[in-house]
Amino acid sequence: MRLVKRILQTIKDAVFPRFCIQCNKEGSLLCDECFVFWQSGKLQIVDDDRHLYSWQYADSIARELICSWKYHYDQSAWKIMQAKLQPSLSALQHFVHIHSIEAIVPVPLHSIRMCERGFDQAVMIAEFLGRELDLPVANLIKRNRSTGHQTERETQDRIESMKKSPFTFISPPSQGGAGGGCPLTSILLIDDVWTTGATINAAADTINELGTNLVWKYTLAKG
Ligand SMILES: [Zn+2]
Repeated sequence: MRLVKRILQTIKDAVFPRFCIQCNKEGSLLCDECFVFWQSGKLQIVDDDRHLYSWQYADSIARELICSWKYHYDQSAWKIMQAKLQPSLSALQHFVHIHSIEAIVPVPLHSIRMCERGFDQAVMIAEFLGRELDLPVANLIKRNRSTGHQTERETQDRIESMKKSPFTFISPPSQGGAGGGCPLTSILLIDDVWTTGATINAAADTINELGTNLVWKYTLAKG
């Protein structure tokens, strides 16, 4: 299976060659040299928002990689980002330990968007971090309505669209009403990009209703 995948990738690379997004050299989305000199990916935190992130969206390499992954479905972009995240994982591991984080929860795409794209990037980030940090991934919420492509919406429009949360629990709380069904007290909520924070905060509000006291948030990038 791995051999078939490799052969298909070789054919794809021959038909659609990749060029480095930084220096334009043919071969891969980010050549080895530009990868080494790309000095970023250090874990950063915005305390007021309980938000951790690895890149500023203004970082052109991070932005290009995220866009190639999300909008051009290029999984090699995600592999490059995973490699660059490796050195900062021990800092995240330490953070998880001191804040007693019990599970990782992805902010899911709407099912229609998921079908269009064929993958959910927040779920993939959550699964990667779950493996690396040895934490379970809990799919607690689902998105009941599509909120449009973030890049196509004005900031105020985005915030307005989140006033009525598009998220609900995957299974209703089993006891104690809206606040009593979730045994998790501290979780790390995952999305790919923080633009206004409206999406991930709406998801956090929904999870808070389950009784989770501490919702920390992690995104690859912050706008
Ligand atoms: Zn390069």
